[in-house]
Amino acid sequence: MDLFEHQAQELFARHGVPVSRNRVASTPEEAEAAAAEIGGRVVVKAQVKTGGRGKAGGVRLADGPAQAREVARAILGMDIKGHTVHKVLVTEASEIVDEYYVALLLDRAERAFLAMASRQGGVDIEQVAADNPEALARLHVDPAQGLDAATAGRLVADAGLPDEVRADVAGILVRLWDVFRNEDATLVEINPLARLADGSVRALDGKVTLDDNARFRHPEHAAFVDVGAADPLETRAAEKHLNYVKLDGQVGVIGNGAGLVMSTLDVVAYAGEEFGGVRPANFLDIGGGASAEVMADGLEIILGDPDVRSVFVNVFGGITACDAVADGIVRAVGLLTVRGETITKPLVVRLDGNNAAQGRRILADAALDGVRVVDTMDGAARLAAELAGKGA
Ligand code: GDP
Ligand code: MN
Repeated sequence: MDLFEHQAQELFARHGVPVSRNRVASTPEEAEAAAAEIGGRVVVKAQVKTGGRGKAGGVRLADGPAQAREVARAILGMDIKGHTVHKVLVTEASEIVDEYYVALLLDRAERAFLAMASRQGGVDIEQVAADNPEALARLHVDPAQGLDAATAGRLVADAGLPDEVRADVAGILVRLWDVFRNEDATLVEINPLARLADGSVRALDGKVTLDDNARFRHPEHAAFVDVGAADPLETRAAEKHLNYVKLDGQVGVIGNGAGLVMSTLDVVAYAGEEFGGVRPANFLDIGGGASAEVMADGLEIILGDPDVRSVFVNVFGGITACDAVADGIVRAVGLLTVRGETITKPLVVRLDGNNAAQGRRILADAALDGVRVVDTMDGAARLAAELAGKGA
């Protein structure tokens, strides 16, 4: 999960990384009140999960509360690279003397953590790395040892930071490591880390990506979830612990096992070309032990998607054999009927693997309305795509 700048700054402050005093505002009037509370000159900053806000006009200075209100009025509602601005961060304005870049991230290719620093901060760091790679110092961090002051000191010296800020920046890097490690982040980045006129060093921006796989260790991170931005079907699926991703096509897809579902998406997209560009409507992996309840929950989510015109249930029987899955489908249809969710869209089922013949017989005997069984994956994908094309 990517955080907004104001959330990143909140985590920074919690771990002793110096940040400017700030307040979040959703209206021009709130921005005005925030500026009055902070006092003096302020910076009003668009809160969107994308970089380059400054260049896009989403970061602006204001002399006082009245101007903060007008600047906030201009920024709120702006579109920055496809992200609408719903909130601004009002911060005390800093007098910047110099801008640096520091970051810690998970280096997947090297299976290690990486610390980076540059004396050319404030600007597009990807450009610095491309034009002038030696301007970006890099150092791998041993996860067991962490980042200590001496190691951080070497990194900032490598980066050629001025002598008088090295100790401060190294100290900030050590605290940033605390953020990275203790909050279970995969990325923490400060650009710019600014040296101010009074000689102090402060994070003027913040980018944090938290590791979703560590969410269970951080119930407090639930407050960071941007509920407004979440897809309602994905939210409902998450509540039911289903592995569901909404896509933009018309064929609902359910399968057991992530690999099978991934390849099902490809096969459906391929088959759909013949029927006017029909595409998969979602990814849904119901896992190995596909019980009737899980099947019913999955079908309920998919049938609740107004874009879905047909559903492809693709199951490869393994430890949970096809007859158990077929029983599950029959009972799931029963459960849905009880829940008042009659199945109004055609279902195409393909069963293969362990006990496939028994499974198919169970479905044939049940003779469910709107449920068709096809023996091959390609054939089933084709029929599901055709049915979705007809439903247009
Ligand atoms: P980004 O463009 O999305 O990376 O947003 P930043 O938060 O990095 O802000 C962009 C630029 O605005 C920074 O590089 C700074 O040059 C400038 N800026 C941010 N905060 C201040 C501040 O307090 N005072 C001054 N003078 N400039 C600031
Ligand atoms: Mn920045």
